[in-house]
Amino acid sequence: MKKIKRLAIPILGVLFLLLLSACGNTDSGSEKSNEAKKTVKIITTFYPIYDFTKNIVQDNAEISMLIPAGTESHGFEPSAKVVAAIQDADVFIYNSDEMETWVPSTLEAIDTTKVIVINASEGIEFIEKEDSKEHEEDDEHGEEEHSHAIDPHVWLSPVLAQAEVKTIQMGLAKADKENAALYQKNAEKYIQELTELDQEFKAAFENAENRTFVTQHAAFAYLAKQYGLTQVSISGLSSETEPSPAKLAELSNYAKKNNVNYIYFENNASSKIAETLAAEADIELAVLDPIEGVSQKEQDAGVDYIQVMKNNLESLKKSIQ
Ligand SMILES: [Zn+2]
Repeated sequence: MKKIKRLAIPILGVLFLLLLSACGNTDSGSEKSNEAKKTVKIITTFYPIYDFTKNIVQDNAEISMLIPAGTESHGFEPSAKVVAAIQDADVFIYNSDEMETWVPSTLEAIDTTKVIVINASEGIEFIEKEDSKEHEEDDEHGEEEHSHAIDPHVWLSPVLAQAEVKTIQMGLAKADKENAALYQKNAEKYIQELTELDQEFKAAFENAENRTFVTQHAAFAYLAKQYGLTQVSISGLSSETEPSPAKLAELSNYAKKNNVNYIYFENNASSKIAETLAAEADIELAVLDPIEGVSQKEQDAGVDYIQVMKNNLESLKKSIQ
């Protein structure tokens, strides 16, 4: 700022004013910082929460994401550095105590009068996990079993996603009053896009005769509930390890009996596994992405929550028809 000021001779007066207003958003260290708008620092936990927040805030605040793509969101444990970063932020936004099970103890360790905490799923009615064994291996706190019997994957329902966006927007309105009206406008626009996504799902599945799908990661119960579908989860399947002969026999029987042609994996399974399942059990593989991580590369290529959900819809249409 000082350097700019020295340049601000009358000839450059107009330029100076432009610069001053352009700097106003980011320069909290100037002597004018009492008047200048301070950039609000927001920390989000994992991808859907980041994307929902980004759509509301756009470039009007600094948003970061704690849990990078490729990190198992369910088993995340915050380092001391992460705890310090949350303390240092103006706003901390997460999905739920059921997903980010480390949040309640982390919040106890910091001064929460200094950071606004937004629980995006507040008010949403959670359902019990269909397969409570699914995430057990990530559970290092045996005494917290009750919270692990709850299914945390609310963001995968386009309708509950809208509720989360609204909750985030309401929280941000308190944290960043100057931009509250803008955030409301952006949130409304994004909720409209999510409403259209919901309508696409509804229209696609309305008259389907087969309403059951089989998945390896039981993350889609909220989506299933929303559209009157049934999620069947098969445990002991991985996209990296070949199923045992006993598992293959079990799958083959199940598939024949229930007329199942597809099994959904959370990411692309190795082609070897796909070949084995096709040959031994007459089952094809498809992807249903729980959106627990979207890499920077994918984000740069325009992949976002809505895009992945549209891919999920196309993929589900293979079974639900
Ligand atoms: Zn999950």
